[in-house]
Amino acid sequence: MRKAVIAGNWKMNKTVSESVELISDLKSLIADVIDVEIVVAPPFLAIYHVAQEVKGLNIHVSAQDVFWEEEGAYTGAVSSKMLSDVGCEYVIIGHSERRQYFGETDETVNKKIQSSLQHGLTPIFCVGETLQQREAGETFSIIETQVRRGLSGLSASDMEDVIIAYEPVWAIGTGRTATGEQAEEVHSFIRKLLKEIYKDTADSIRILYGGSVKPDNIDGLMTKPNIDGALVGGASLKADDFARIVKYQR
Ligand code: PEP
Repeated sequence: MRKAVIAGNWKMNKTVSESVELISDLKSLIADVIDVEIVVAPPFLAIYHVAQEVKGLNIHVSAQDVFWEEEGAYTGAVSSKMLSDVGCEYVIIGHSERRQYFGETDETVNKKIQSSLQHGLTPIFCVGETLQQREAGETFSIIETQVRRGLSGLSASDMEDVIIAYEPVWAIGTGRTATGEQAEEVHSFIRKLLKEIYKDTADSIRILYGGSVKPDNIDGLMTKPNIDGALVGGASLKADDFARIVKYQR
């Protein structure tokens, strides 16, 4: 039985004080939920402050990116070691916005996943096809390449600590959600691929769906057998909406 994960990606939104306000509102709405792993990913500057607010609760803190080296002359970068030090437990890696705007590649994604695991962070590894790729019938080959390259060199025991997020690029921030059937088709493809590589461990790897998840579509998505949770962007910035997503219909 895989425990569901609902993760909120705040992206480049919220100052420190706004982040603290949002997490305070959220705490009061979802503090009683214990059967879902709840994760929030504020901007770097707010991580420490949000982590202080949720200490001891079933709300965990994630970063939205990380650099793979531990320390050194890498101006502007933040390492896994630094994130762990401030109470961060997860890190989103390979988000399509990082791939699109910051030159992230499957190779850099792989280095970041390896580094995060070495420092005890749980990577939330994102994959997804663009609309053009979907329309050209390339969805499965793109996903397979991203999964194989992103996870290159990882053992089955490493995979026990990895979460995968399938996020079709055409559904992110567009209001256009994949249907439950479209998402499940890709999730079950990823599960089969993981089975081929990692055998039985594949059954315990959580695969989240991301792309315009809202209070009104989460219930349907969560009925699908290979959808183990959601990575939520826009709707995670509204406490009521995110709380409703966390409290999806069981
Ligand atoms: C995301 O940023 O990971 C995401 C899925 O965004 P949204 O929910 O806004 O589509």
